[in-house]
Amino acid sequence: MTEKTKVDVLVVGSGPAGSTAAKYAAMSGANVMMIERRPEVGVPVRCGEYMPADSEVVNMFPTLKDEESLYRIPASMKCRETEGIMLVDPKGRETLLEMPGYTIDRDLYDQYLAKCAMDEGAELVMNCAFHGIENGVAKTSQGDIEYKVIIGADGPGSRVARNLGLQRNRNPYPAVTAQVEGDFEPYLYMFFGDIAPGAYSWIIPKDGRANIGVGCSPRFAKENVSVYMDKFVEKRGFKDHSRIEGKYVPSEGPIPRTVSGNGLVVGDAAGQVISVNGGGIPLAMIGGRIAGNVAGATVKGQATLDDYEREWRSIMEKPLKTAAFNKKLADTFGFRSEWSTCFCMRMLGKRRLNNLIRCKSLFP
Ligand SMILES: Cc1cc2nc3c(=O)[nH]c(=O)nc-3n(C[C@H](O)[C@H](O)[C@H](O)COP(=O)(O)OP(=O)(O)OC[C@H]3O[C@@H](n4cnc5c(N)ncnc54)[C@H](O)[C@@H]3O)c2cc1C
Repeated sequence: MTEKTKVDVLVVGSGPAGSTAAKYAAMSGANVMMIERRPEVGVPVRCGEYMPADSEVVNMFPTLKDEESLYRIPASMKCRETEGIMLVDPKGRETLLEMPGYTIDRDLYDQYLAKCAMDEGAELVMNCAFHGIENGVAKTSQGDIEYKVIIGADGPGSRVARNLGLQRNRNPYPAVTAQVEGDFEPYLYMFFGDIAPGAYSWIIPKDGRANIGVGCSPRFAKENVSVYMDKFVEKRGFKDHSRIEGKYVPSEGPIPRTVSGNGLVVGDAAGQVISVNGGGIPLAMIGGRIAGNVAGATVKGQATLDDYEREWRSIMEKPLKTAAFNKKLADTFGFRSEWSTCFCMRMLGKRRLNNLIRCKSLFP
């Protein structure tokens, strides 16, 4: 990068939101640069690596169009098809929710998405950290970048959001993950109770491996999330696991505004995450496609960034707000004790738990 670089669209962060936004902005003819502070895209993996089937994404977001092209990946990139989600209450009672999905290697997945963006002409600059915005110019660890539109796809603690004067995610949850070897059933297991206060621990099957992890709510947890991970590993008898990696997960749904001036935020940076389960990859890509398209059109004078705000909200806002409301109900009634967790899960029953996991109203 030269001392002062000029681009049409600057994308900060090369996760699913950033790469998808960069791809679609480049496809619309804009000159796009994506910067990433890490030395390698997608590394280390800080994710459960679970993806719902396309049909399930559409079930959650019924107005989403052309999901196939958004989530199309080479078949070899799918580690394993999964058949459902097994909810396990603190007493060990299981409820199986039929829900097709698949698992991925998140590092390879992110690298594939970044390559798709580059194939469309976006430039990727690694080891380049965004520091802030001064007089409309992005300050980075590799120099200044002038842009017409800036897209903050820089994850839950978004620096771009702060620099644009947008609200950052409140009350993010810590979550940690690791890989273990072995044969596992084709279900995503979610364990509730003191093993993961206010959230859940998980086993997500891959090919001869599984992704295991724990998330917890700062409001209910008495200890650091890694302590819960140690307890989970011990309880399930996992012998050797890979290095534990962690990150934060937005827990309250979308932030109030995602556009400011000539900037916008997308993905985790915008709180585009399902509060009841922490899932965010498909959403980051829905938001990323809209962000990229609108940024590209804005550069050409054919749109304004407010179109992004309107479009993503028309697809995702209602389900995400429903999920955030359901999460509040769970905090108020379900997560107070192991007894109340068991009681609420029994009261809800399979039909309502199905609604809960799919961002739908619990009542009537
Ligand atoms: C432990 C854990 C398990 C999860 N499991 C799942 C799951 O199984 N399924 C699912 O759908 N979702 C899961 N999620 C959520 C999912 O990982 C996120 O929703 C998703 O990664 C959001 O994508 P993103 O592109 O918005 O952000 P990220 O993937 O966080 O990408 C942001 C990128 O920006 C870069 N960056 C940050 N700051 C800067 C800066 N200042 N300058 C330059 N670059 C910067 C980061 O290095 C990163 O590469 C999980 C989250 C956690 C923490």
